[in-house]
Amino acid sequence: MSEAGELKKEILFLQKQHASASAEDILSWAFKRFGTRNVALASSLGAEDQVLTDMMVKIDPEASIFTLDTGRFFQETYNVLENTINRYKIEIQVLFPENGAVEEMVGRHGPNLFYYSVENRKRCCRVRKVEPLQKKLATLDGWICGLRKGQAVTRKEVQKIEWDDDNGLMKINPLADWSEKGIWDYIRLNSVPYNTLHDKGFPSIGCAPCTRAVQHGEDIRAGRWWWENPDYRECGLHRS
Ligand code: SF4
Repeated sequence: MSEAGELKKEILFLQKQHASASAEDILSWAFKRFGTRNVALASSLGAEDQVLTDMMVKIDPEASIFTLDTGRFFQETYNVLENTINRYKIEIQVLFPENGAVEEMVGRHGPNLFYYSVENRKRCCRVRKVEPLQKKLATLDGWICGLRKGQAVTRKEVQKIEWDDDNGLMKINPLADWSEKGIWDYIRLNSVPYNTLHDKGFPSIGCAPCTRAVQHGEDIRAGRWWWENPDYRECGLHRS
């Protein structure tokens, strides 16, 4: 069997083996399989990632966590970053985009380029998020994400354990089958620090110019790039 065939077989086996495993069990498995320094949480500092941070630190205080600072965050996002570091007494690695690439993009297309076309919006996400992420992922064997099936039409097929073909490493989504209620029950029960924008109608929080509050009953990702067709509303960090 080819290497790709072996890998596919292994992933299918792991998916089956961990189908009913709890999020904590999946994390413990990932730490054991890759070693704590070779698998890391890519945290957006949103509610799901805060749940994962709490779980990871409780399992292993040395767990690796990083975030991608695009330079366009809300102040509330910096507040939750600081509160999380202080609460758990951990280091969260903050990654920045390459300054030359940002200067070139803003110089050529303007500071608000994302509003003018999907192409421009994807260009900005690529420079500010995807490229710094790819650089980091090249140093890891697995990455952990807070994706849930129920978050968006683009995430319906999310599995707890997947192979990330684009980046060539394992992708672990311990909360794949969690509900939004489950996330908030966990946050309250464990007094997990969270972004206060969640209390102001922001269920999903990204960069300030590309995120707005949603109305009651609206899709939870309706406030992200709200001017675009929902089928395309991903930043390129996660392929649908
Ligand atoms: Fe740029 Fe908006 Fe993407 Fe942030 S979410 S990187 S500001 S396009």
